[in-house]
Amino acid sequence: MRKFLWSLLLLAVAWEAEAAKRPNIVFIFSDDHALQAIGAYGSVVNQTPNIDRLATSGAVFENSFCANSICGPSRACILTGKHSHVNGFLRNGNRFDGGQVTFPKLLQAAGYETAMIGKWHLETEPTGFDYWEILPGQGSYYNPDFIQMDGSRKRYSGYCTDLIGDMALHWMQEQRDPDKPFVLMCQNKAPHRNWAPAERHLDLFKGKTIPEPASLFDDYAGRSGLLKENEMSLRNHFYWGHDAKFHGDNLYPEYFASGIPNGEYSRMTPEQKAAWDAHYRPENQAFLAAMDAGELSEEEILRWKYQRYMKDYLGCIQAVDENVGRILDYLEESGLAENTVVIYSSDQGFYLGEHGWYDKRWMFEESLRMPFLIRWPGVIEGGVRSEALIQNIDYAPTFLEMAGVPIPEAIQGRSLVPVLANAECAAPMGWRDAIYYAYYENAAVHNVPVHDGIRMDRYKLMFFPRTHEWQLFDLETDPQEMRSMHEDPAYSAVLRGMQQRYRDVRRYYGVNSAVIPATRGEEGWWADRQRAVNERVREGDVDLLFIGDSITHGWEGAGKEVWDRFYGERKAVNQGFGGDRTEHVIWRLTHGHLAGIKPKAAVIMIGTNNTGHLMQAPEEVAAGVGRILEILEERTPQTKVLLLGVFPRGEGRWDQGRINNQGINDLIAHHADGERVRYMDLGTVFMEPDGSLSREIMPDLLHLSPAGYERWATAMEPVLKEMGL
Ligand code: CA
Repeated sequence: MRKFLWSLLLLAVAWEAEAAKRPNIVFIFSDDHALQAIGAYGSVVNQTPNIDRLATSGAVFENSFCANSICGPSRACILTGKHSHVNGFLRNGNRFDGGQVTFPKLLQAAGYETAMIGKWHLETEPTGFDYWEILPGQGSYYNPDFIQMDGSRKRYSGYCTDLIGDMALHWMQEQRDPDKPFVLMCQNKAPHRNWAPAERHLDLFKGKTIPEPASLFDDYAGRSGLLKENEMSLRNHFYWGHDAKFHGDNLYPEYFASGIPNGEYSRMTPEQKAAWDAHYRPENQAFLAAMDAGELSEEEILRWKYQRYMKDYLGCIQAVDENVGRILDYLEESGLAENTVVIYSSDQGFYLGEHGWYDKRWMFEESLRMPFLIRWPGVIEGGVRSEALIQNIDYAPTFLEMAGVPIPEAIQGRSLVPVLANAECAAPMGWRDAIYYAYYENAAVHNVPVHDGIRMDRYKLMFFPRTHEWQLFDLETDPQEMRSMHEDPAYSAVLRGMQQRYRDVRRYYGVNSAVIPATRGEEGWWADRQRAVNERVREGDVDLLFIGDSITHGWEGAGKEVWDRFYGERKAVNQGFGGDRTEHVIWRLTHGHLAGIKPKAAVIMIGTNNTGHLMQAPEEVAAGVGRILEILEERTPQTKVLLLGVFPRGEGRWDQGRINNQGINDLIAHHADGERVRYMDLGTVFMEPDGSLSREIMPDLLHLSPAGYERWATAMEPVLKEMGL
């Protein structure tokens, strides 16, 4: 017995010693900090001596990427180790589901003390942290408010980056439990737009000229026409007050955008305003005098904007770098450094004038890449540069493995520990050959279209669903991505290979665009129709819904006379939108189309555009239809659903699209439950006896004629009657 107790004690001592070795993790994170503005990544525009200390004493990752190049989604990927379509935070404005498994929660449960200080930007309150103090939304540079753990807001005097540094130091020095290993997330607002430097950095670049990127005057030739539709160019979307830092009315609306003032200025003390004005006024007056005298060409005006933008942006980074230095100094002075992993990263990269842009979002290198510098004493030697393809979904599993915590199966990222553990930080055997990227914020700020793609070591493939376009870039011959090679015959084998890899990587991560809500709000008519349908729904008194695409939409065209006769008196609402796929229907049903109504029945026919636009696999489309049925069940469970098989298309039975639709129908037929959901495949109603479609019924072999609508209505009528209509 005594021997047994003794061995237990030894075990406990050993465990204690093991636990004591678990490293602390200090994760220093910034917002929109591009690699081009970090010394260790070869910056030609500024110097970052403190961030560079991590490079000399640790590793720099050359091929580090985000999964979705925008603030909130990148943070959600980091916390969960999962891509956006899995963690549910697709676009800014979403609300992060804090009930999910995150690495801070798992580390906390394993005995780590956890803290989150600074920019959070996930709408819901942080979970999994013993301590947090966060900026509301984007936060402010000058005299910022911070949300406290009790929900109250506290306004601080001072500069945001310095305050976050103060809080991080104070937490490490005074607030944490010194007996526990800890993880500290120190997350800056800087250098996010609108780039307001601290007083001490206002004149940092005075009199200097920042070098211009080669693609500052990009005309977007040789790539998708969607690039030209961007609203993030220095030329056309640089705001007079907000970005250019002028006071008063926009005097040159042909060169500067109007409407957003410089909100930072209004938060400043009189002394701060005086320092600000003393810096900007002389330059602004000189510029306006030159403009008034007509001395500046369009190119010179753009160059002036670039200099203004960059000096402000880089000024913000200087305070970040200084505060990184304070934290590193403290770790070294306190003796913590030896057992503390320090990481410097940013939620995505940023355009520093490349392609004429500021901002991020696109899958081009400058905003796809994320800085990643890591110091891990005793594991990583100094001065290492890694070429391994890594991504922000890898951080969570990495932290877990560092702490000896098992990595949940559901995490999609891979632990970097095997990369970090070899002397060159080289990709170990079996490491990934491609990263997956997806951007979901259609028709939003800066008008960058939804797109996704993969990047391998040399090539990058993007897909734009709005125009069904591929873009292929050869990063070796065209590192600035000025020409898509997707139509070049010399690249046909590469294109085919990349497309296959793209499909496989999507399948590996479980990406199915048919179930991911998507708006077409960038198309005026679509947004107008969405609004009009929502208005009709708000009036209530709806008994019958038709949900679908152009074929349903056509009840207002070729089908109008039949509609009036069959449904005119039956409180029916047409929710058919030409060109919609399942993902658009999912968006509409969750954005007002079902608000407050309890229809007796809903007729659903959707999916032929998932086939027609993308030839999407039947199981993916069927999952989209399944999601639509779930939404109806969640929001209006008593509504009976008449689910229709996707109508046949194409002339004959061997039409590829028709065969794909048949595959969808095989799968969705199973949703019939004998109660709430009825399923009907009306295909033969429209076909000739030999299986062909006649132009009399389907003039374009896809949409119905008036006679076709007559057949549709007649075939459904008995079922609708049974459903109480
Ligand atoms: Ca950001």
